[in-house]
Amino acid sequence: MSKKVLVIASNNQKKIAEIKFLLPDYHIKSLTDIGCHVDIPETADSFEGNALIKAKYVFDHHQLPCFSDDSGLVVKSLSGAPGIYSARYAGEQKNEQENMNKVLDNLKGTKDRSAYFITVICFYDGTPQYFEGRVNGFITDSRRGTNGFGYDPIFELGTSGKTFAELSEQEKSTNSHRALAVKKFSQTLTKEGQ
Ligand code: IMP
Repeated sequence: MSKKVLVIASNNQKKIAEIKFLLPDYHIKSLTDIGCHVDIPETADSFEGNALIKAKYVFDHHQLPCFSDDSGLVVKSLSGAPGIYSARYAGEQKNEQENMNKVLDNLKGTKDRSAYFITVICFYDGTPQYFEGRVNGFITDSRRGTNGFGYDPIFELGTSGKTFAELSEQEKSTNSHRALAVKKFSQTLTKEGQ
């Protein structure tokens, strides 16, 4: 039996690889796969709002049900920054190394280094449905590990003693904020027979 197609409003190959691992029963298509070459502007002031913009854009322009995930790192001592600006914290060039440097610099000498990663998935097929996942952890003093992407080398997961970048692809895929949100999403797809 052929797999059901699900479109994700993203071209981030590492993120898509994590999602494919989490949704093995579906054929996941990226924006490029459906011929959408637009960098959809994320102009909302919340994770939900940005997730909605991306999924709705695909539904409106390509007539395909679509899901998107909007994620970010929320650091308590930085009043919630980088938050919805995680991708461009150190500037529009969206440089991961500079983003991490900025977090580490801004936290120098700070005792409370607690933080969480959040993912909000929006599935849009004419109406939006939202699914949220969060994981708590700490910002390290320096980078550790080489796996993953984004802020992974400076985010230590809960009491694991490991940063996301020190986890294997499989370990991160099953323990991340994205994994928790995708799990809720896939349970709903199953329930709705999609
Ligand atoms: P997006 O909304 O999922 O594209 O995520 C926005 C930004 O948050 C990314 O560019 C990364 O900087 C950061 N981010 C999101 N998810 C992760 C993750 O799993 N690990 C590390 N950084 C992440």
